[in-house]
Amino acid sequence: MQTGTLFTVSAPSGAGKTSLVKALVDSDSQVTVSVSHTTRPMRPGERDGVNYHFVDRDAFVEMLNRNAFLEHAQVFDNFYGTSREWVEQTLASGRDVILEIDWQGAAQVRRLLPDTVGIFILPPSQQALRERLTGRGQDEQSVIEKRMAQAIDEMSHYVEADYLVINDNFDEALRELRAIVTAQRSRLQCQQQRHGALLEALLHH
Ligand code: 5GP
Repeated sequence: MQTGTLFTVSAPSGAGKTSLVKALVDSDSQVTVSVSHTTRPMRPGERDGVNYHFVDRDAFVEMLNRNAFLEHAQVFDNFYGTSREWVEQTLASGRDVILEIDWQGAAQVRRLLPDTVGIFILPPSQQALRERLTGRGQDEQSVIEKRMAQAIDEMSHYVEADYLVINDNFDEALRELRAIVTAQRSRLQCQQQRHGALLEALLHH
């Protein structure tokens, strides 16, 4: 059975990462996104088990202690982690998996699984990023300034990715994201796994 490809998608908050990944996953049944565990409080409109598995610190530490996370990181004041078992099982079933994680998590995953494909999504300007962060209307000015500083810190790690997508126009960025996934699936090694019988038959005299 052919195994899927693992992608990490990193971006500063406000770059449109979640919407882009959702649109990609909704239109491609072969690719699925991991639901992380987090200790951060739920935001309005979020659902447990959909956006995140919301857990308290004790539950998070308990999972950490039994090595249940493929990677984990502290972002702002909260902990985030990716379920090792879910990722391994989904990849083994042949589906591609996207991890929407910060640069620290992406670095951990890359060390562990060097075939991981790293994608970074960036906003078209600092101004656009600021507007998107403000546009959420959920945070105070001081929180926005803190988030801007964190966003710049996150963006400074773009060089660690394999692919860069600038999210100026949503549809264009989505096309680029799809192209990256398609290109990855078309790599020789992936095609040999998927089309082994065909490749053998084509060379038959
Ligand atoms: P938010 O709290 O705004 O949903 O996410 C904050 C940051 O945490 C984002 O950069 C997001 O990509 C990152 N993040 C979400 N889940 C995980 C995870 O499981 N692991 C890591 N390392 N980062 C995560």
